[in-house]
Amino acid sequence: NAPLSEVDPEIAAVLEQELGRQRDYLEMIASENFVPVSVLQSQGSVLTNKYAEGYPGRRYYGGCEFVDVAESLAIERAKSLFGAAYANVQPHSGASANAAVLSAIATPGDTILGLELAHGGHLTHGMKLNFSGKLYDAVSYGVDPETFLVDMNVVRDKALAHKPKVIIAGWSAYPRHLDFQAFRDIADEVGATLWVDMAHFAGLVAAGLHPSPVPYADVVSSTVHKTIGGPRSGFIVSRDTELAKKLNSNVFPGQQGGPLMHVIAAKATAFKLAATDEFADRQARTISGARILAERLTSDDSRAAGVDVLTGGTDVHLVLADLRTSPLDGQQAEDVLHSVGITVNRNSVPFDPRPPMVTSGLRIGTPALATRGFGDAEFTEVADIIALALRPGADVPGLRQRVAALTERFPLYPGLAQ
Ligand code: PLP
Repeated sequence: NAPLSEVDPEIAAVLEQELGRQRDYLEMIASENFVPVSVLQSQGSVLTNKYAEGYPGRRYYGGCEFVDVAESLAIERAKSLFGAAYANVQPHSGASANAAVLSAIATPGDTILGLELAHGGHLTHGMKLNFSGKLYDAVSYGVDPETFLVDMNVVRDKALAHKPKVIIAGWSAYPRHLDFQAFRDIADEVGATLWVDMAHFAGLVAAGLHPSPVPYADVVSSTVHKTIGGPRSGFIVSRDTELAKKLNSNVFPGQQGGPLMHVIAAKATAFKLAATDEFADRQARTISGARILAERLTSDDSRAAGVDVLTGGTDVHLVLADLRTSPLDGQQAEDVLHSVGITVNRNSVPFDPRPPMVTSGLRIGTPALATRGFGDAEFTEVADIIALALRPGADVPGLRQRVAALTERFPLYPGLAQ
């Protein structure tokens, strides 16, 4: 039982260096966050040793009396947080939650209709190399070329034309709310099952700052590690228990074997924290920060430098910077931000003239910095640093210093050593 630093110094060094990186950079990847130490504790606990195939009270292994408590708490807290009658907290990831959902509500060969990947959809919503595109007949709707918004008339036309078995609402890169009522109406009109993937905006929903899809959708899937800020994993909820049996059996044994009980315990804690006022305040700062970013990146100065924001703003935790008229492509913009100490990811904009490995956009998110404690004043400073960095002839060392001043004022995991 020697410590990691003795058993495997190379991996110990990776952990230490990664902690340093997270501390020294401004993390603005929209799908990332910082889990609290309480979540790290469960994830690094002896619960990782336990096999618990099955569900609480109905396991295929002995000795599950304590992990049953953890999973039951996670289920009850997820239901209460999202006003759901059903929850499954076993999916190892967002993608495995989505695989279980699709196998519960569709049969291979069925038509599924989701948002196009290049317009902000997710791989699991029908991308041709993903299981969803290989097993199902995937068709997609895109955003409007002028407004960059999902046009519900187009969704309806596509649904009427293709008669999908499943309609998918949800996104990985879209800065506005979806109209869940309109999706419900279209699903009813064509006899489709409505599945909402709220992976990105689940934290905003939990805080009451984003419309909840739960009353409208037949089934809702999510991750826990994005806006919620819990352990890397997935879960499924539903407003009623009609699909409960099918969903459960498609998670286990359909997609998975033994659940990750250390992660499930950490999910329980994340859901408990998500019901607090502190969490709601964090989500409010997340949205406010994204709005400040959008405002500063649509200033006359930014536009003159070829930087703009898709849809002109945001309602959520991310901004999609549009670099189609900038001399910088997405790769160069990602690199220049990295050099000043800000981590983002380049992202295709819809109808992108540049290839997918280069792109003409950046996806910039605020959840991790809100968790770090940032409020409007700090997000204003961050927005100004980004706007200056994306202009020609940016003073990289000067901007790196401004980033360092912020990271020093908001220490991450103070006292933690890896
Ligand atoms: N669904 C959406 C909308 C996502 O954005 C993502 C992750 O980016 C996922 C599902 C998949 O989550 P995971 O990476 O945990 O498999």
